[in-house]
Amino acid sequence: MCFKCCLCFVQCLHKVWRFSINKIRLYIFFNIISDPCVSPWTASYGLTDEQKEFQKVAFDFAANEMAPHMAEWDQKEVFPVETMRKAAQLGFGGIYTRPEVGGSGLSRLDTSIIFEALSTGCVSTTAYISIHNMCAWMIDTFGNDEQRESFCPDLCSMEKFASYCLTEPGSGSDAASLLTSAQRKGDHYVLNGSKAFISGGGDTDVYVVMCRTGGKGAKGISCLVVEKGTPGLSFGKKERKVGWNSQPTRAVIFEDCAVPATNRLGEEGQGFNIAMKGLNGGRINIASCSLGAAHASVLLAKDHLLVRKQFGETLANNQFLQFKLAEMATKLVASRLLVREAATALQEDRADAVSLCSMAKLFVTDECFNVCNQALQMHGGYGYLKDYAVQQFVRDIRVHQILEGTNEVMRMIISRNLLTES
Ligand SMILES: Cc1cc2nc3c(=O)[nH]c(=O)nc-3n(C[C@H](O)[C@H](O)[C@H](O)COP(=O)(O)OP(=O)(O)OC[C@H]3O[C@@H](n4cnc5c(N)ncnc54)[C@H](O)[C@@H]3O)c2cc1C
Repeated sequence: MCFKCCLCFVQCLHKVWRFSINKIRLYIFFNIISDPCVSPWTASYGLTDEQKEFQKVAFDFAANEMAPHMAEWDQKEVFPVETMRKAAQLGFGGIYTRPEVGGSGLSRLDTSIIFEALSTGCVSTTAYISIHNMCAWMIDTFGNDEQRESFCPDLCSMEKFASYCLTEPGSGSDAASLLTSAQRKGDHYVLNGSKAFISGGGDTDVYVVMCRTGGKGAKGISCLVVEKGTPGLSFGKKERKVGWNSQPTRAVIFEDCAVPATNRLGEEGQGFNIAMKGLNGGRINIASCSLGAAHASVLLAKDHLLVRKQFGETLANNQFLQFKLAEMATKLVASRLLVREAATALQEDRADAVSLCSMAKLFVTDECFNVCNQALQMHGGYGYLKDYAVQQFVRDIRVHQILEGTNEVMRMIISRNLLTES
């Protein structure tokens, strides 16, 4: 074959390839627009009947109890205590906590399904509920019977609310360098130091605190449960945030704060391990909240494209926007698959669980942010107005790329596990 024929052949192949890819994008687009069975809403494909049932309960709760208030909670910075207690009546206060202490005893996959659905109604509130669930699970899993019975029932009913306290002003990504000290004095620990960025801080009742009882590094860290009202426990001012405004964020300060030694979860030195075990599930939960935001944003974008007219026709007739919508739906579905795989791995305690949880958090929070941002772009100037929900989804999920371990830290965990596995 001469050079010209060769070039011609390659160009033909390229055209066929582009034609096929474009046809696939068009196919996805028309399915989203016209066929509800293949729309991104089919988050229930492959689920058991039971899972479909509580998914529906969560979607309904999101639509009826959360979505109508989401903008107001954001703008007035309301922590919707009563709504969360209603969610707890449905079993969402201790989804993966054991039933003996008031939990629902569901799996990590079940939990992800519920958080995705709830987030379509309000990401910020659902994200707080997810942190609360993580704390309840930590006490249930690492506490003794007395601790479990004392704290878990009130947490599962959301009569009491919990906060997770790891980050400090000087230790964020390098969490094992934390400095808050807990000195044993008789039957108490005396805490001194402060925690930064604590979700729920000041408004919650139970603080699961990682503090230093021993030497430097992870092995010197223990985990104590500190109750609101303990002398020496105080809070900083409420932080002003880009999103996540339906939950307060404050510093938590300990000044000679005496906590009964009976409030220690596990053994001395086990605290960092407990904190990381909590976060594995926390990362799936936060990724699931991002899924819910992307899920809602794809629908908002679809509705807008079908209604808004420019150049004499609806935006939905524009192929560029069709392709963009197709890509958004594809990213959403790929993200959901990864979250569900990670949730299953964690449930089964598989060797790849920690990496998969980190991969899910990294991939899903990045991709779902891009999906929501693209949905905002499709709304044009309207997307930038607070009357349109899409901007709130963008603002609320931006922080998912930062907290529960930044996405750079996720890369560190994944690569470290890859490079050290035998
Ligand atoms: C709204 C909100 C709520 C939060 N809620 C809680 C909570 O309830 N409980 C809690 O304990 N914490 C909470 N956090 C804290 C959160 O987990 C930390 O902000 C996060 O872990 C990052 O720590 P940092 O802010 O100190 O950033 P830093 O650790 O200072 O990092 C700054 C930047 O540098 C990057 N970086 C750092 N080290 C490396 C490295 N080695 N390689 C590459 N990049 C690196 C980071 O990824 C980041 O992009 C919350 C934060 C926010 C914003």
